[in-house]
Amino acid sequence: MPHGTVIRELHMTINRRAVVSLALFGAPLAALAGKKGALCHPLFGQLAFETVDDDWVRGGDVRFTSGFDTTLIKSLFVPQIVGMPRSTDGAINTGNIQFHSHAHAQLLAAFEQIEQQGLLRKMVSFGGARFQPRLRKPVDGEGRKLLSRTPSNHSFGTAFDVNARDGKYGATARVFAAIFEANGFLWGGAAFNDPMHFEVKTFIGSQALPTFRCPTGA
Ligand SMILES: [Zn+2]
Repeated sequence: MPHGTVIRELHMTINRRAVVSLALFGAPLAALAGKKGALCHPLFGQLAFETVDDDWVRGGDVRFTSGFDTTLIKSLFVPQIVGMPRSTDGAINTGNIQFHSHAHAQLLAAFEQIEQQGLLRKMVSFGGARFQPRLRKPVDGEGRKLLSRTPSNHSFGTAFDVNARDGKYGATARVFAAIFEANGFLWGGAAFNDPMHFEVKTFIGSQALPTFRCPTGA
């Protein structure tokens, strides 16, 4: 493991003062755990997690401690995105993404329909389809960045962002909404003012999991 990686992981886990005390006294890492959280996810049921940072941080990394099987997030090749820029860094997609295996078939079906309907040329970027367990990064109506204590759906390999690089916060992704919705996805533009964002609403097909009924208000 390169030296830089070790340092980065230490900083993700513990703060600077803790590094010093760790070095001086050999404090156990377990004593420096982050904040604990829980939620009922409509696809996966009751989940527990903890923050990697030692306090709540907007968009901060999390670790699932129960209720979510991360091994179900598997590699998937999507031929239609080969050569397309990713969302944030603009790096070029190879076609391989990390996505929840129960939703592989419906994502491939949606992309085939997008291609068949001649809409692929309107997709300028595709990203966020990877295992990235972190908290949400909500923005209010005036563009203020808000803290959320709920994991993003990008944490579950069930979400992706389309046309984040269109200069309009993904507004041009509207053209794909009907096709993705017909294949079991929810469009963030209609649901919560995040038009680049799509996520699995229901698993479709033979491997479908039951949709959990979370208590209202949970
Ligand atoms: Zn998103």
